[in-house]
Amino acid sequence: MAIASEERTALEEVPKELYIAGDWRASSTGASFPVEDPATGREIAQVADATPQDALLALTAAADAQEQWAQTAPRERAEILRGAFELLMADVDRLALVMTLEMGKALAESRAEISYAAEFLRWFSEEAPRVHGRYMRNPTGPGRLLTMRAPVGPCVFVTPWNFPTAMGARKIAPAVAAGCTMVVKPAGQTPLSMLALAQVMERAGLPAGVLNVITTSRSGAVVKPLLNDPRTRKLSFTGSTEVGRMLMEQSAGRLLRVSMELGGNAPFLVFEDADLDAAVEGALIAKLRNVGEACTAANRFHVHESIADEFARRLAERMKALKVGRGTEPDVDIGPLIDERQRSKVAELVQDAVGHGAETLIGGGRLSGPGYPGYFFEPTVLSGVGAGARLMREEIFGPVAAVASFSSELQALEAANATDYGLVAYLYTRDLSRALRVTEGLQTGMVAVNQGMVSNPAAPFGGVKQSGFGREGGFEGIEEYLQTKYAAIAV
Ligand code: NAP
Repeated sequence: MAIASEERTALEEVPKELYIAGDWRASSTGASFPVEDPATGREIAQVADATPQDALLALTAAADAQEQWAQTAPRERAEILRGAFELLMADVDRLALVMTLEMGKALAESRAEISYAAEFLRWFSEEAPRVHGRYMRNPTGPGRLLTMRAPVGPCVFVTPWNFPTAMGARKIAPAVAAGCTMVVKPAGQTPLSMLALAQVMERAGLPAGVLNVITTSRSGAVVKPLLNDPRTRKLSFTGSTEVGRMLMEQSAGRLLRVSMELGGNAPFLVFEDADLDAAVEGALIAKLRNVGEACTAANRFHVHESIADEFARRLAERMKALKVGRGTEPDVDIGPLIDERQRSKVAELVQDAVGHGAETLIGGGRLSGPGYPGYFFEPTVLSGVGAGARLMREEIFGPVAAVASFSSELQALEAANATDYGLVAYLYTRDLSRALRVTEGLQTGMVAVNQGMVSNPAAPFGGVKQSGFGREGGFEGIEEYLQTKYAAIAV
C-alpha cells in the first residue's frame, strides 16, 4: 500500500530530531530508530535516538532555564499557553493524521484527542494567573503567617503511546502555567505526536529550554540518570503500573515529588432500573474509545441478572456493526491495536475467558488477510464471564467487552472493588440515592454516573490504589507543580 501524498506531507512537517534548549538536533551518536504504522506494519519515519548523555543535556537546558522562567509574569505564561491552544486547534487535521499514522486510532478519535489536549492548554492558561498565597494572623500571638507558592522546579515527564498528545499536554500545560521547566520522554512507538506538540509550543513563543523533548529506543537507560540527577525535582509518569512502580523506586533516591497515572481495570455497573439504551450507548464509548486501549476503558461489565443477556445482546449488535480498518480511511470506527504483542495478549485473554466458560457472542480473534496487514482484532463480546477469568483482573487494552452478572447491589459493589486498581468506575441507574450510595462505595478516583466518559480538562483526573496518585486537570492539576513556602513574621 503506497503512502498517500497528504500523509507524506503531514509526516514531513514533523521534526524528527531531539528538541533541546530551543534547538532541533540529532542524537549525539547520529542514531535514529523507526516509527511504524500499526495498520500496515510499515515504517513511516525515523526519529533521533537519544543517549543518556543527550538526556542530561536536555536536563541542563531545563535547569538553566528554570530560574528565569519562574520569574516570568504569570500572564505571559498564560498567553503562551493560550496561543498554543489556538495553534493546535488551527492545525487539528494535520496533527490528527500524524497521530493516526503512528498510533492507529480512527481519524475522528485523533481529532478528538487533539481538541482534548488543546483544552488543557486553554484551561491552564486560565489557571496560571490564579496561583496565590495566604496572609493571616497567628492565632496564638501577635505574629503574621504568610504562605506563598513557587514552582517545584525542573520536571521529568514520561508518557505512553495510547494518547500520545493528550498525556503530554496534561503535564506540560500545568507545568508551564506554574513556572516549571521540563524534559519529556514520549513512548518510542509514538514520538511524532510529541515532537509535533513541541513544535507548536515553540511556535507559540515558549522560551528555549522550558520544554525539551528526547525520543529514544532505550527508555530505561535514558530516564534513570535523569531521576538520579540532583537538578530534577519532580517525575510525572503515565503508563503501566509495573513501570510506574519501578520509576518510583528510582525516584526514591533523591526523594522526588512524584505523580503516577497508571493502569486501570474499570468496572461498568448496570442496575436493573437503568435506562438500557443509554447504558449500551455509554458502554460503546467506555469500551471502544481508543480501540479499547485506554486506562479508563470499561474492562468488566457487571450487569443485573435480570437484564444481563439483553444488555450483552444489544451491545453485541452495536459492536458488530462497527467498521474495522485503517484509521485514515473514511467511515472506519476501529483501528488496529498498537503492536503484535498487544494483540497476542488480547487474544490470550479471550481464550482464557472462553476456557473459563464464557460465551462468545461476536468476534473473538485476530482480523488478518489482505485487507488487514496490521494488528487488527475483531470487536468481541463475551457473556457469562466467570470471576476466575484473567480479563476480570487484568487490563484488556483491546475491543473486547466481558459481561458478567450480579444479583444484588452489594454483590455489584464487591465485584467492582475486587481489583488492585482504582482509576474509574461507570454506573447506570435511574435511582439517585443508589447512584450516590454506590459512588461513595466505589474504590476509584473517578466515577461516571449514567455516562460513558469522565475525561474533562476541568476535572481532576487520577486514581487510587494501584492506579496511582496525583491529579491532572481541574484546579488540582497545577498543585502537582507548586510547592508551598511559609514565612513566620514577627510584628
Ligand atoms: P508503559 O510500557 O509503562 O510505558 C509508558 C512509558 O514508560 C513509555 O514512554 C515507555 O517508553 C516508558 N518506559 C517503559 N519502560 C521504562 C523504563 N524501564 N524506564 C523508563 N521509562 C520506561 O505503558 P504503555 O504500554 O506505553 O501505556 C499503557 C499503560 O498506560 C496502560 O497500563 C494504561 O492504563 C496506562 N495509562 C494510564 C493513564 C492514566 O492517566 N492513569 C493514561 C493513559 C495510559 P517506551 O515505550 O519507549 O519504552
